[in-house]
Amino acid sequence: MRILSFDIGGTLIKSAIYDEETGLSCFEEHSYPIPGKDGVLKVLRSCMDKNDFDGIGISTAGLVDEKEGQIIFCSDAIPGYTGARLKEIFESEYNKPVWLVNDVNAAALGEAYFGAGKDYDDFICLTYGTGVGGAIVINKEIYGGKSGYAGEMGHIVTHLHGKDCVCGKKGCYNEYASTRALTKRCMMLNSSFDNGKKIFSALNEGNSQVKKEVDEWIDEIIYGLINIVHIFNPPCLVLGGGIMDQEYIVSEVNKKLKTAVMQGYSDLEILKAFLGNKAGLMGAAQYTLRKMRFKKSEANN
Ligand SMILES: [Zn+2]
Repeated sequence: MRILSFDIGGTLIKSAIYDEETGLSCFEEHSYPIPGKDGVLKVLRSCMDKNDFDGIGISTAGLVDEKEGQIIFCSDAIPGYTGARLKEIFESEYNKPVWLVNDVNAAALGEAYFGAGKDYDDFICLTYGTGVGGAIVINKEIYGGKSGYAGEMGHIVTHLHGKDCVCGKKGCYNEYASTRALTKRCMMLNSSFDNGKKIFSALNEGNSQVKKEVDEWIDEIIYGLINIVHIFNPPCLVLGGGIMDQEYIVSEVNKKLKTAVMQGYSDLEILKAFLGNKAGLMGAAQYTLRKMRFKKSEANN
């Protein structure tokens, strides 16, 4: 079966074909031709018009009602996107099954089947970027909780009465452990330290002030992970986000976390996600294939 897979983000939309026999091909990145929801519809339709496929898998930013295939909430990153009923729209236009999955969950599923989590049935996936995203994988499936929103690790509170968070609360992990939090810290030293690459090249050149900021930021990462490890006792943590390409972070997290948790919890693997910007596409394709098979077996019974 061939799945046309999408990964919808705030600045780019990725697309590819996933074929069960040959894997991922026709990878493309599209910028928005017009902003917001209409831009999403335009890009997706143009890809659907020029490809043959059996089903459509969509990994997307925002809170997703996976059953209804609807965007429940999305920030201003994609104007007008909240409420979009993508499943309904495309199933009626193209007469093929369409499945939506939240982007962090899609990336975790990608890692579960094809990436760092391949050898594990259960693991916790965290991605560090503008915010911190999380996904709980149990038996190679996403644990969604009552409404499908479980795993919002970015909003566990690590600082009482702490900084304001985008969610409207205070002291969330997001505000301290995200890549954005690291750049904010380092830009206080020098406004040119506005991305991870510049920060880590300064660290590698021996800048001790930058190293101090990075080490304190890694401690913030650890505070959240201590809670997560004590709740789940997972065999494995998969850490994603471009910043994790810096070997220093993963090796420090490994060292610090294993001494920070209670005895008995330290026997866990800490791995870097390795599918990069293809994880969401692969996860959405896998998710869609499984949903299509499930429907088929239901229909046969
Ligand atoms: Zn928050």
